[in-house]
Amino acid sequence: MSRPQIVTRYLSAQDAADIVQRLGVAQTLRGIADYIEADFKRWADFDKSARVANHSRDGVIELMPIADDRTYTFKYVNGHPKNTRQGLPTVMAFGVLADVDTGVPELVSELTLTTALRTAAMSAVAARALARPDSRVMALIGNGAQSEFQALAFHHLLGIAELRLFDVDPTATAKLMANLAGTGIRTAAYQSIREAVRGADIVTTVTADKTNAVILTADMLEPGMHLNAVGGDCPGKTELSADVLHAARVFVEYEPQTRIEGDLQQMPADFAVTELWRVLCGDATGRRHADEVSLFDSVGFALEDFSALRFMRDAAIAQGMTQTLDLIPELDNPKNLYSMIRPAALPAEAALVTTRQPGTEVLSA
Ligand code: NAD
Repeated sequence: MSRPQIVTRYLSAQDAADIVQRLGVAQTLRGIADYIEADFKRWADFDKSARVANHSRDGVIELMPIADDRTYTFKYVNGHPKNTRQGLPTVMAFGVLADVDTGVPELVSELTLTTALRTAAMSAVAARALARPDSRVMALIGNGAQSEFQALAFHHLLGIAELRLFDVDPTATAKLMANLAGTGIRTAAYQSIREAVRGADIVTTVTADKTNAVILTADMLEPGMHLNAVGGDCPGKTELSADVLHAARVFVEYEPQTRIEGDLQQMPADFAVTELWRVLCGDATGRRHADEVSLFDSVGFALEDFSALRFMRDAAIAQGMTQTLDLIPELDNPKNLYSMIRPAALPAEAALVTTRQPGTEVLSA
């Protein structure tokens, strides 16, 4: 029997950036959004669980596993809002894609850049289903690492043409405006959240603070707004006051996880929400009328990483990227793992012959 070769592809942070630069950001976001939407529409195929989180004083480290009957993926991701003060990203991630039949890890990939892309693509998938189709103006509160990706996803996938920006750190807003120059999106910086939000069709909150922050209150809402709340994604880390959730129809990724991590954590256990996959499948109504306020309480679900990892793997193969990792031992005899470290002085396995005689076992060279 010939042994299948174990191939573990490797995508570094630079590889992922190269893929996006060759495809273009718009095409990448569209591609990941298509993979996410297709996977959400086959929700029942997945073995799902809320992510496993280890909390510490300043942050959280999480593992996010999911599988269908062919492919398993997991993501390692952290969230440390104070990191930027010492020159580290708030969110860093990597992940694995494996073959369910054998357990062979087929891809080890960076997921920091990919998480920003997939989070923005997910927000756009939700907004395409929930926001008013004539939405053109978005307020973007929190102008850090995720913000360009959110801006570009809403521009390319929903037609958002104007952004109203606010961050407590004006240099973050200046960075975002500089990065968006030449994209065709009009940007303007505001002095307060209230001013930025006024007149917006969509409000995206993507701030980082390990606290129950109040970025939006109900008196800032206007009829027909869609809220894309991305930064409240951990116990004790929220962005919306409870009255915002009371004023809106609330849509979530995976309800058991969002009840623990989302802005939804503030609400009683029987507070009604709708899982987004139902809307995408036509099982539940999204927006019911033009004046309704809709809220996507995003926390980031493993299925989005499953989709994004597959998209990046397929793009890497299509672009002829061939980097692999020597991660799993290749053994002539899979039961002889010890052969990797056997001292050279001992006789080689092939030279050993085992002969059995009644009641005895003799090894002879
Ligand atoms: P970041 O640290 O790079 O940027 C966060 C920005 O928020 C900073 O510029 C900061 O000044 C600003 N900010 C903090 N408090 C604010 C306030 N009260 N008002 C206005 N601005 C404020 O972080 P990032 O990588 O951009 O991530 C942003 C948030 O998104 C984090 O909370 C992260 O955990 C979350 N996130 C969620 C998902 C998801 O799937 N839902 C995915 C990735 C990241």
